[in-house]
Amino acid sequence: MIPGIEGIVTVSYIGATILFILALGGLSNPETARRGNLYGIIGMSLALVAAIAGAVTANYALLIASLVIGGSIGLVLAQRVRMTQMPELVAILHSLVGLAAVLVGFANFLGHSVVRPEEVSIHLIETYVGILIGAVTLSGSVIAFGKLSGKISGKPLILPARHALNLLLLAVVIWFGYQFVAHAESGGGLMPLLIMTGIALLFGIHMVMAIGGADMPVVISMLNSYSGWAASATGFMLNNDLLIVTGALVGSSGAILSYIMCRAMNRKFLSVIAGGFGTDGGGAAPTASAEPQGEVQSVDAAETAALLLDAKDVVIVPGYGMAVAQAQHVVNDITKFLREKHIKVRFAIHPVAGRMPGHMNVLLAEAKVPYDIVFEMDEINEDFPDVDVSVVIGANDIVNPSAEEDANSPIAGMPVLQVWKGKTTIVLKRSMATGYAGVENPLFFKDNTRMLFGDAKKSLDAVLKALRDTASR
Ligand code: NDP
Repeated sequence: MIPGIEGIVTVSYIGATILFILALGGLSNPETARRGNLYGIIGMSLALVAAIAGAVTANYALLIASLVIGGSIGLVLAQRVRMTQMPELVAILHSLVGLAAVLVGFANFLGHSVVRPEEVSIHLIETYVGILIGAVTLSGSVIAFGKLSGKISGKPLILPARHALNLLLLAVVIWFGYQFVAHAESGGGLMPLLIMTGIALLFGIHMVMAIGGADMPVVISMLNSYSGWAASATGFMLNNDLLIVTGALVGSSGAILSYIMCRAMNRKFLSVIAGGFGTDGGGAAPTASAEPQGEVQSVDAAETAALLLDAKDVVIVPGYGMAVAQAQHVVNDITKFLREKHIKVRFAIHPVAGRMPGHMNVLLAEAKVPYDIVFEMDEINEDFPDVDVSVVIGANDIVNPSAEEDANSPIAGMPVLQVWKGKTTIVLKRSMATGYAGVENPLFFKDNTRMLFGDAKKSLDAVLKALRDTASR
């Protein structure tokens, strides 16, 4: 450590902590999100410089080389990633936090860090718990990455007697924890630690594999929370106060987000962990038995434009397909056009629309859609009976009436946007495929639903052209 720098490091840590709290506050609202991000960037830069200056190492060259390599990989990945791959990137980043906790734990144990005799047991418990949380986060996040990127099926893998199996694993982990603390000082700690790490990795895999497609939003926020607690545990192992506080901030905000997601989906946290909500990984072809009856009514771009121009009150419901098609800019152009014609246009955002919390808000903000016409589900759902045209852009699960109307539906009980209660609904999608939860959607067969098939961006470009052509006649 640079001599005499301790005081400056402590003050910088306090400054960084305050900046992280301000960052979280800023991120709670789209209008202040940019500022929140800036606070986060400054806080993290300050924390990095302070941690490097205060590091107990003589090998600064290795430290800086690792930072440059890690930072460059992060920079390239973040620049290359497409907006639709963001959730996968977040999941894999969570896994790295878990990996770091595991590595720090083993390094701490094998490096025989100097601890006061009265603190040995607590230090060993910190190490054990830190590696445990880290390993669950690591393997759970890798599976979440696989499910989100479609590399692993979203179908819940339900093993027989899985709850009993989980309880058994927990009991075994506690027993090995006892063995670890009892024998660590006499040199017998490594084996229990390795066995526990293996069990924790298997538990992380089992936990996320058992979770159904529709519950993935909760899993993402839960793993976000775990990664915070893993970082906090690393902070305890390294005696780094800033890491403890920052980890706790991430851990608790992730836990609150999980709670909000559970409430949005009308699910209990424990039933999410128990798994099985939703049936498949999305995009599957309809199965004959579950296929809703009836015929769909297609429209083209010109008919869609005519319906919109006839309307007084329009609600746009964006979903994951809008992100895939990158249609947000043309959506904004259409919104501007209609508003200039004195047609009321609003956006309805479902809490789990897209593939990550706030996904739709980010896209709409990027396209500069005014914030004051963007509404959360609870704020707008009761208005649908008075809406003339609802335009569903690449959304599916979040507008599925079977969640409310069919008690046997795999997503029964999940609150959805009640577009079918409006006068006309136009659904933009490419085919009759299901959404992420793999559940058939009777909305497409309702009398007042019109399907505009095709890529959302191409369809909306054609609708905008038709609107302009009609206006110039
Ligand atoms: P869905 O996944 O239910 O539906 C998206 C629809 O978009 C598909 O049916 C697809 O149909 C269509 N689509 C895809 N690409 C295009 C395109 N280029 N142009 C037009 N349409 C397209 O999305 P929702 O937003 O309705 O619901 C989100 C789902 O994701 C929920 O089940 C939620 O639980 C889950 N989830 C949410 C997370 C979150 O944090 N928000 C995280 C993880 C999962 P087609 O192929 O026919 O075009």
